[in-house]
Parts: sequence; structure tokens; C-alpha cells
Amino acid sequence: MVNYTYKDVIASLSEKLAAAGITNYYWEARELAGFALGFNCRGKFDQTAKATGEQINNVALLLARRLMGEPLQYIIGEWDFYGEPFEVGAGALIPRADTETLINAAKKLFEGKAALVVADLCAGTGCIGITLERELDCKEVYCVEKYETAMYFLKRNISAKRSGCRAILADVKDAETTKLLPQADLIVCNPPYVTDEEMTKLQKEVAFEPEEALRGGEDGLDFYRAIVREWKYKLKDDGIMLFEIGAGQEDEVMEIMIQAGFKDVRTRSDMAGINRCVFGKNHEYEAVSLYEQLDNKNNERTAD
Ligand code: GLN
Repeated sequence: MVNYTYKDVIASLSEKLAAAGITNYYWEARELAGFALGFNCRGKFDQTAKATGEQINNVALLLARRLMGEPLQYIIGEWDFYGEPFEVGAGALIPRADTETLINAAKKLFEGKAALVVADLCAGTGCIGITLERELDCKEVYCVEKYETAMYFLKRNISAKRSGCRAILADVKDAETTKLLPQADLIVCNPPYVTDEEMTKLQKEVAFEPEEALRGGEDGLDFYRAIVREWKYKLKDDGIMLFEIGAGQEDEVMEIMIQAGFKDVRTRSDMAGINRCVFGKNHEYEAVSLYEQLDNKNNERTAD
């Protein structure tokens, strides 16, 4: 029997991944090897050690899955988000670095504020809600998710992180769902926002992710319209609605929020300089008082 060292295993994985056109082949080879060999290969380790037959079989199996296009994150079963690993697998959207922009935006917006009530809509793995609970001073965090498959990972992540987030299995587009939550300081959402046309040209790996977590309707904006309509009234006065958006959707999403009466509607860009978030402030009372002022002016005029 041929004796393979860990070094050979990584070299062979790396070569096969490169031949399949995978860009970060060496890095992926180390990640896959680490998983197959049963220890973390990110740092330094004894590469001259011999792999067992079982380890070699594991490597072959994982490589076959990766070469079929399955995302590395599903194969290894977890992915880092904002410095912490989250369990993920088929049926849940993989946490993405772009989405960390939402966390940074929320931290800036709620600096120094205490006892926050937060709702994470379309929560998926829960990476947003669970991270916000850790990074902000929260009283209650609600994670709303429609699908059982994603709910499985959401619940596992909540318990692995000893988080106090409450998982709610419900459809965010259904007006009845809003009744399950209290008034919130922050409603945050990374909805499905891929357009019907883009859905036909998804990257092979992305096509493994649940369609329901990606498809946002013909123009990709279905969820923004529905959530603004159904959930604005669940914000406290001065509460913030914060969305992740797809590249180039900022004007349309800002317009949806402005038309619904949000104030101070703004964007925030991700590390690549792409506008990745749109947020705005609920300001019912000021809107009311402006109308009152106008009314008073009219009355004054009539009195003249
Ligand atoms: N960011 C994902 C992508 O690149 C889309 C996720 C979403 O629709 N929220 O396809």
C-alpha cells in the first residue's frame, strides 16, 4: 500500500482543485484536508505524518463532492461570520463576508444605546441576529425564518452560541407574522434579492443554495416591498429598518423606503466599495407633527 503523507494529500487535492478551475485551490485544499483528516490544517502541523486509509477515503469522497460544484462551506459544515463559526448546510444560505457590512452599520447606528429589541427577518443560519445580540446591547432578539431546513441550522447555532435569540418559524411576507413580535428598535433583513434573469446564470456553487433564499422576484425587489409595507409599523418611533441589497439595487430600495415615509434613508458600502446596505429611520410622530404644523399654518391663513 502506498504511503501518503499529509503533504502529499494536500498537494494532490490542490492539483485536482486547480485543474477543475477553482480559484483558491491551495487554500480550499487545506480546508478540505483539515476536515477529512479530522484536525485544523489552517496553521502549522506535521506534514510528514502518514495519512491512514480511512483519511484517504474521506479525502476522495469530499473531493468528489467539491468537484461536482458543492460549496466548500456545505462540505465542511460551517463558515465564519464576524469572527465566529456558524453551522451551515444544504437548505440554508451560506453566511457571506458582504453581510458583515450590516453588522458594522448597526453597531454605528446603535452605539451607546441599551436594551434594544431587534428582529432579524429571513434569518437563515441566524448569523445576523446572533451576531447582533453579541455586538449590541440587546434586550430581545427575534429571528424569523420560513423554512424548516434553515430553521434546523438556526436552532443549532442559537444553542451552540448559548444565544438568547428566539427562533420563529413564520413567513415574513404574511401580515399575521408581525403580530408575533413586539415593537422593535431595529428590523434587519438580508432578503432574497436575485432577479429572475440572474437566477438563470448563477455560479455553480450558488446554485446549490436554496432557491427560496436567493430569488427576489422579477426585479429582485419583492421582499423589500413586502417587508417595508408589513413591518414599518412594528418599528418604534426612531426605529431603524436595515436591509442588505444586491449590487446596483440602492436607488430602487431607497425609493421604496422613502415612498413609505422613512427618514434619513442612506446606504453603506461593503469592502469592495459596492453599496451593500440601505437603511432608514421610522419617524411617524414627526410626520404627524409636520402635518399638524401645516394645518396650523392653514388655519392661521384662514384667520387672516
Ligand atoms: N449575496 C447572495 C449572492 O451573491 C444573494 C443572497 C441574497 O439573495 N440575499 O447571490
